[in-house]
Amino acid sequence: MRFTELPRPTRVVFGAGRFAELGEEVARLAPRRVVVVTTPGRRALGERAAGFLGSRCAGVLADAVEHVPAEVADSGVARARELGADGCVAVGGGSAIGLGKAIARDTGVPLLAVPTTYSGSEMTPVWGRTEDGVKTTGRDERVRPAVVVYDPELTTSLPVAVSVTSAGNALAHAVEALWAPDATPVTRLEAAESARAIVDALPRVRATPEDPAARADLLYGAWLAGAGLAVTTMGLHHRLAHVLGGGLDLPHAGTHTVLLPHVVAWTLPAVPEAAAALERALGGEPAAVLHRLFADLGAPTTLAELGADDSRFDVLAERAASPPPAHPRVPTAADVRALLDRALGSDVRMAPS
Ligand code: NAD
Repeated sequence: MRFTELPRPTRVVFGAGRFAELGEEVARLAPRRVVVVTTPGRRALGERAAGFLGSRCAGVLADAVEHVPAEVADSGVARARELGADGCVAVGGGSAIGLGKAIARDTGVPLLAVPTTYSGSEMTPVWGRTEDGVKTTGRDERVRPAVVVYDPELTTSLPVAVSVTSAGNALAHAVEALWAPDATPVTRLEAAESARAIVDALPRVRATPEDPAARADLLYGAWLAGAGLAVTTMGLHHRLAHVLGGGLDLPHAGTHTVLLPHVVAWTLPAVPEAAAALERALGGEPAAVLHRLFADLGAPTTLAELGADDSRFDVLAERAASPPPAHPRVPTAADVRALLDRALGSDVRMAPS
């Protein structure tokens, strides 16, 4: 056994109704001019956050969009500077948190996150930025939120379809953490528990979207997935999701439900221990369980459904395979092309009998 366990500096506050503690959490960190960022659709939630901050709030920016386009990031940073911000609160999904991270990275102010989806971005030091159709990601401690407030009550309004694809994103984090080259005994336990919790909670959330227990369980699973994402290196699945997301402008979360069963089927033969752990967590053959779960939940299961065609697959396959992702089964561009072809329009070869 050989591993390196990393520190986890984020303070995590979890529980129904705990959004109301945001003011105290900000006060603990001491900033006096906090900018609140969110997506246009979550503006009311941003205003609620501002209400909890009182005189410490310098303004609400509701401009965040998916994949952190460079111009949105730069104008958010400029606005935060104009406002004299010395802290940032991101309220919403990965898009809002992505803008918060851009501000934290460029201005050095501390970031607090109040996630309302299952993206896991709130737990990581990973930033993203999209310029000319290419998404770049990197790690920087300045973007890791100092505090994360998880309040499952904020997630009950997340539409079922978005909940499913966003939880698919979380499941992808858990799965890739299981086979990551830098997985540790702790991250493996977390990842397996995360996958178990998510697969258990998702059908309950779909049946009763406002069920507080199901929403809490799903958010708990997403937190564990994000915690693993923060300390392990993601492999082929995430490389592909980012390459397709940036290159074809696909919705990030939907690409996960499409790709994950394919990547799992291709990878597991090379990682028997991760395969066994995932099989125990999911209660069956992993690729088949995932495929059936997403299909039953009505989530996208083909790239065609997301609006993709194969005209740029060769370029994208090259981009995904080179340099090689940190993946236990190293893919060639031809392997990736074949995987994309399987994921495009037909999942017949994936379909459980
Ligand atoms: P999102 O943040 O774009 O949210 C999806 C939609 O749901 C938005 O319109 C949003 O306004 C709305 N929404 C959010 N919460 C809601 C709620 N509770 N009720 C109703 N509507 C709600 O989607 P996402 O999947 O959370 O995030 C995707 C982005 O996050 C991508 O850009 C992705 O690359 C990034 N991401 C980054 C990391 C990282 O570690 N840096 C990890 C995962 C994802």
